[in-house]
Amino acid sequence: MAYQVTARKWRPRQFDEVVGQDHITATLKNAIDSGRVAQCYLLCGPRGVGKTTTARILAKALNCSARQGSNPCEECDSCKSIAASTSMNVLEIDGASNNSVEDIRELREVVRYAATEGTYKIYIIDEVHMLSTAAFNALLKTLEEPPEHVVFIFATTEVQSVPDTILSRCQRFNFRRIPTGQIADHLAVIAKAEQIEVEEGALHLLASRADGALRDAESLLDQVASFGGEVSKQVVGQVLGLVDRDLYFELVGAIHDASPERVLDLVTRAIDEGADVEEFVHGLVELLRHLLFVKVQGGTDKLDVAAEDRSRYDELAVDIAAEDVLRMMQSLLDLAADLRRSVQPRFRVEIALVHLALMGRSVDVGQLLQRLQALEGAAPGGQGRSAAGPAAPPAVVERPRVERQEPSIAQKPRVQQERPPVAEKSPMQEEPPPIGERAAAQKQASPPSVAERPAAVAHAAAPATERPAVANQPPSASGAAQSRDNADGPSFEDVRQGWGDLVQAVRDAKPSLALFLSGATLLGLEAHVLKLGFSADDRFAMAQVNKNRDSVEEICLQKFGRRLRLEGVIQEGGETVAKEKAPPPQSDPTVRSVLDTFDGELV
Ligand SMILES: [Zn+2]
Repeated sequence: MAYQVTARKWRPRQFDEVVGQDHITATLKNAIDSGRVAQCYLLCGPRGVGKTTTARILAKALNCSARQGSNPCEECDSCKSIAASTSMNVLEIDGASNNSVEDIRELREVVRYAATEGTYKIYIIDEVHMLSTAAFNALLKTLEEPPEHVVFIFATTEVQSVPDTILSRCQRFNFRRIPTGQIADHLAVIAKAEQIEVEEGALHLLASRADGALRDAESLLDQVASFGGEVSKQVVGQVLGLVDRDLYFELVGAIHDASPERVLDLVTRAIDEGADVEEFVHGLVELLRHLLFVKVQGGTDKLDVAAEDRSRYDELAVDIAAEDVLRMMQSLLDLAADLRRSVQPRFRVEIALVHLALMGRSVDVGQLLQRLQALEGAAPGGQGRSAAGPAAPPAVVERPRVERQEPSIAQKPRVQQERPPVAEKSPMQEEPPPIGERAAAQKQASPPSVAERPAAVAHAAAPATERPAVANQPPSASGAAQSRDNADGPSFEDVRQGWGDLVQAVRDAKPSLALFLSGATLLGLEAHVLKLGFSADDRFAMAQVNKNRDSVEEICLQKFGRRLRLEGVIQEGGETVAKEKAPPPQSDPTVRSVLDTFDGELV
């Protein structure tokens, strides 16, 4: 016997064989049993869920001369001819290719000829929504006064495109997507009958890819089985370009553990194994969706996943908050929409996932405020300050970073940008000694020493307000600075050529930071300030570079023999927009203080 594709070979022949649409087959069987046959049925639902199959079974059952209960016998002449598509009483019309008014008029002519005694004339119109308006109107005339013996069965995937006038004359049945578990069970029956060896869990993986369409699942099984050998999870993954489920579990774990390094490793592994970037994101969203169900429903009982995955969902759900799952999903859904128009989809995915990992876990600001208030309330009157003691540790942990960062961002450029012209124009100002000291310190290639820091902090007292003045320096001043560049630092060309190595060096120390740097464009070098351009979508990457520029500047020093200050700017439509810090939404002083105290970030 010639090879037949599974979907065709296993097409249901009885109502009871239709998978996952019991609510429909039960009603139809009742109608046949009781002889209450409608004149027009409308079967709607997604593709591949059994609409046309059900229409054919109904047609066979209506005309069968030896019906077995409500099911067709499969033996009589009528059943056989319908199965072979040679019956004169059952006409299958494809709405997509016969959608003109002439086609329907022809149909109306045909309808007038009565079926042979005791049988029905049945018209199955597939994709009925494809009919033209004129064709619908012509059809309507037939539907208004259909001859006794005629039954119309319409099938459509887009019921919203079918005119109300048609809908109101039909008995409507909504086919549903078939649950993954049910599809997997059905595939197991097929595999057993066809003697296909199957690894546990592989069929579920296949079924989940079919997204509720049994026909798709059967085609996928054919595809994987023809690969030869056992149908294993690995083979399914390979053939369909799926990402291993384990990897997703690990990835969500890595994000939750705030481990950007592991996140990047896992993305690399997935891509190396041939995963499609969009498919990868899709799969991750799917897993998060299941996880959210587990969180909200308090267990995996209602989850439509492979049995072996249940315990893993349970484990993961224990220490991850529903808010975090939601946040990840939201971020990934935004990302998925972005990916289609992105020229660097992989980069986008890496940024988004690292962002999620770095964001940490969500803490309810309301709870934080309560905790703060409780701390303040615990100490009456002037005791307030000492009561802040317990809350101090997080602040103490965080402060050193602020101090270390501030001098290098604010004070140093001031020395380098502002001072030179001053020093050249009026050498008798009282400031020169510090410049000498500081320049010496820099030539020794040492980071700002601890001893120096207090002074630096003092200098940096009002850097933010002074910076605009720096930016608006007259050209002569920046020209002077430029000549200094050439004197004791690398040229822009040097930096451009060495940039790849520098990013590599950063990667060894901080992989995620290197990722953010790699998305930047080198814009220019002026007065030892290296301008990095980021696209508007990469605000987060820019913020991370600005936040961690100390370590990059350190590597610049080793690489170019000169500490360069990095400054990230957003490039919008070609022009650069000086950003530094966009006006923060969290201007409320209390929220601000909560965020400061706990090193938080509004999301
Ligand atoms: Zn029959």
